[in-house]
Amino acid sequence: MRTLIVEPHADDAFLSLGHTLCTRAPSEEVAVLTLYVQDARRIDEGGAYAKSIGAKGYFYAPSPERIAEALESTLRQFAPDLVLSPFGIQHPDHLAARACVDARGFPRVRYYLDVPYYVRPKNAAAIQAALAQCAYRVVSIGSPQPEKWKALPIFQSQAKFFRLNPPETLRAPEIVLERTP
Ligand SMILES: [Zn+2]
Repeated sequence: MRTLIVEPHADDAFLSLGHTLCTRAPSEEVAVLTLYVQDARRIDEGGAYAKSIGAKGYFYAPSPERIAEALESTLRQFAPDLVLSPFGIQHPDHLAARACVDARGFPRVRYYLDVPYYVRPKNAAAIQAALAQCAYRVVSIGSPQPEKWKALPIFQSQAKFFRLNPPETLRAPEIVLERTP
């Protein structure tokens, strides 16, 4: 199984799927595509994280105008069986990343709930509305273990973000959904 993780920012695969990625089956090969990179430092962090989880590739879009093109070329190069997309909650880049994946129409897509946004009470109504638009089933729920947090020091540029978010938010269960026909 080859899985491409599409992340809006260089820390989203870690935040929303870090535990899942630590505990994946040995036969599962992954690559990571970052759609929005703010600066070279974050590209380095995204690449270092991808390496730390044994990813087969790390890709990023060179500019926000070229995210669809970057997705297309990554699909061609990595040839995944499955794409993991953000569900798309609160942050405009997360919503745009989801829209980009959906617009591509890849045959097999799963959606991970965006940490930390999905646990914020103010987003509950928007999440309920999005879930009501089509039927989903839960594919997996992971409860983050300390193993996940070993990668935290990689994200030096985000130290303030991690300090500002309460630790229990960042230990939120990792939830992956799939649309049902
Ligand atoms: Zn993000």
